[in-house]
Amino acid sequence: MNNKCIICGSEQSKRLTGRAGWEVRICLDCANALTVPAPTTDRQYDDHSFFQIPVEGALRWRHAAGDLIKFIHDNGCRGTFLDVGCGNGFAIEAALAAGFEAQGIEASQSAVISGRDRGLQIQVGYYQDNTFPDNTFDVILMNHVLEHSANPRTMLMSAHKHLKPNGYLCLGQSNYLGTIPRLLGARWYAWVPKEHYVHFSVQGVTRLLQNAHFQVKSTRLTTLFWDWENILASTLRHWPGIMLHNFAAFVNQTRLGFPFVGDQFNVLAQKQEGNR
Ligand SMILES: [Zn+2]
Repeated sequence: MNNKCIICGSEQSKRLTGRAGWEVRICLDCANALTVPAPTTDRQYDDHSFFQIPVEGALRWRHAAGDLIKFIHDNGCRGTFLDVGCGNGFAIEAALAAGFEAQGIEASQSAVISGRDRGLQIQVGYYQDNTFPDNTFDVILMNHVLEHSANPRTMLMSAHKHLKPNGYLCLGQSNYLGTIPRLLGARWYAWVPKEHYVHFSVQGVTRLLQNAHFQVKSTRLTTLFWDWENILASTLRHWPGIMLHNFAAFVNQTRLGFPFVGDQFNVLAQKQEGNR
């Protein structure tokens, strides 16, 4: 089995967790973790059902999007904004409300239709296929996107090109080092082994960003935001974990503070000039 790290190339890894058919291994060189075996393709989102959430009932998603845009805005970002993998476009709506000139790109056709129906500017397709002009955006957001890519470094290099000088890239990632994943082990809902190539740590993603000529300006730990339907569905699928799942749902619903926060993190990084 090929355990070579797609972030740093190292073959030194140790098993963290797993179930029948997959495991997660921590790379001993870059502190990110890898799904083994890796997902078979990163082009599986054209008809993705994840985004088929009713727009009118999606208060929690809107709240999470607003919270993320506030983090970006509070750090001084303004101007043109691209949301890569924007789903239904909740973050675009929040960015528009905050004064950004915002657009998105999304592979899921149903999600694009939903966003366009609400008047949002969204291209359909995969970011890695699309040619945005160089030096176009002040801010690029990739919220729970990078882990779905077979080549995260290439994604970051594209963002570097599309950003204006001193522009900002914001990443939202699940944090496998958080309290909830440690409690839930292989039952943690954010492993998603058929889709996630990499599970980033703050330290690991910071190194990756530095290698792609970004400088991290701000980092925060938060909680993943799951609604009851999602929690219930995964609880029924993995019934032995019912207590832990309910606990995790309770923690996320009530947004309890330390030590429960931390199964997600956001990083805001600024484009540096330099040869790539
Ligand atoms: Zn590595």
